[in-house]
Amino acid sequence: MAKKTVEDIDLKGKKVLVRADFNVPVKDDAISDDTRIKAALPTIKYVVQHGGKAILFSHLGRVKTEEDKEGKSLAPVAKRLGELLDKDVKFVPETRGKKLEDAIDEMQDGEIVVFENTRFEDIDGKKESKNDPELGKYWASLGDVFVNDAFGTAHRSHASNVGIASTGIPTVAGFLMEKEIKFIGEAVDDPKRPMIAILGGAKVSDKIGVIENLIEKADKILIGGGMTYTFYKAEGKKIGNSLVEEDKVELAKSLIEKAGDKLVLPVDSVTAEEFSNDVPTEIYEGYIPDDRMGLDIGPKTVELFSNILKDAQTVVWNGPMGVFEMSNFAKGTIGVCQAIADLKNATTIIGGGDSAAAAESLGFADKFTHISTGGGASLELLEGRTLPGLAAINDK
Ligand code: ADP
Ligand code: MG
Repeated sequence: MAKKTVEDIDLKGKKVLVRADFNVPVKDDAISDDTRIKAALPTIKYVVQHGGKAILFSHLGRVKTEEDKEGKSLAPVAKRLGELLDKDVKFVPETRGKKLEDAIDEMQDGEIVVFENTRFEDIDGKKESKNDPELGKYWASLGDVFVNDAFGTAHRSHASNVGIASTGIPTVAGFLMEKEIKFIGEAVDDPKRPMIAILGGAKVSDKIGVIENLIEKADKILIGGGMTYTFYKAEGKKIGNSLVEEDKVELAKSLIEKAGDKLVLPVDSVTAEEFSNDVPTEIYEGYIPDDRMGLDIGPKTVELFSNILKDAQTVVWNGPMGVFEMSNFAKGTIGVCQAIADLKNATTIIGGGDSAAAAESLGFADKFTHISTGGGASLELLEGRTLPGLAAINDK
C-alpha cells in the first residue's frame, strides 16, 4: 500500500492544497486541545520550507444550518497555527469566491493561507459531506498539487479529500497520514509476533469488525470493558445489571467458537450497585450478582493480561478496560497501561478516541509507540477496511 508522500513531489512555487485535520474542540473562540493542530505541523512546515504556497483547510464539527456556524469558524485555528509556527497565517473567512481566489493569487512562496471550515458548504445541500463533484472540482482548481494529511477523515468520502483527489490533481499523503498508515497498517498486516490485541470499551457492536479482522491476525485477543458481559452471557454466566447487548449474544457465541483460546475474557470484575463513583465496590470472579453491575476488570484479570502481554512484540489497544472516567473503575485500564509501559522492544499502538484520552489522563501517553489521532479512521483500519481518503492518494 505504498502511497506517494509530500516528499515525492516538487513543491517550489506551487500552490499546495493541504487538507489537514483541524477538527479541534473550540469554546468561546478558545481551543481547549490543540493536539490535532500540532500533529499537522510537520507537513505544513515541510511545504513552507520547500517553497510551496500552503493553502490549508479542514472541517470543524458538524454544520447543518446557518446557526450551526456559530463557534465553528477556523479563525481561532489559524490564529493558533500562527503562534505555533511563529509566522503570519492569513485567514480567509470564505470557502469559495473572489476573496479566496485573490488571497491565493497574492501568495508568495512559503506563505500560508487558511480558508474557512469546509462544512460551511453543508448548509446548502451537504456539498462537502456528500462529495458534490462540482465542489471538489472547484477546490482542486485553486491549487497545483494536493496533500491529504487528514487521517481523521480518511474513512469518509468527502469533497475536501476524495472529491479533490478524484479530479486527477497530483495527490500525495502528508506526514501524519503516512505515520498513521505505517503504524496501524503494519501492526495489523505485518506485525512482529506475538501480536496481542486488547479490546474494550462500551459495546460489542462498535467493535465486531475489529474483532473479526483481528481473530485472523492477532495471536491473542484480550477482552475487557462493557463488552465483557455480552460475552459472559454467551457463555451462560450471570451478569446482573451489567451492560449487555442482547441482540449480539449469538454473535458473541460464534466469535468465542471461532477464536478458541485466542480470545481471553476477564476472570474477575469490579462491581457496584449503581453506575457511580460514590457507592461501595466489590470484586466478583466469573459472574456478576443480580443487583450489581461490572464496571471494570478485576485485579486477577489485570495479572492474567499482564502475564500474556509480557512476551508481546506488537500491542494494539482499542477500548478502555472499565469506566476509567471514575477513579473506582480506572484500575483495570491503569494496570493494562502499566503492563504495556513495561514492555521494552514492543511496538505499542492505541487506536480509539476514548482509549487515547484514557492513556492521556492516566499519564501513560508517552509510553506508547503511536497514539492514533483518528478514532473512526483507526477503527476502520483495524477492521481491515479500505479507507476512501487513503485509496484516493496516488500510488508510488
Ligand atoms: P474508544 O473510543 O477507545 O474506541 P469506546 O468508545 O468503545 O472506546 O468506549 C469507551 C467507553 O466505554 C468509556 O467511556 C468507558 O466508560 C466505557 N466503558 C468501559 N467499560 C465499561 C463497563 N464495564 N460498563 C460500561 N461502560 C464501560
Ligand atoms: Mg469512543
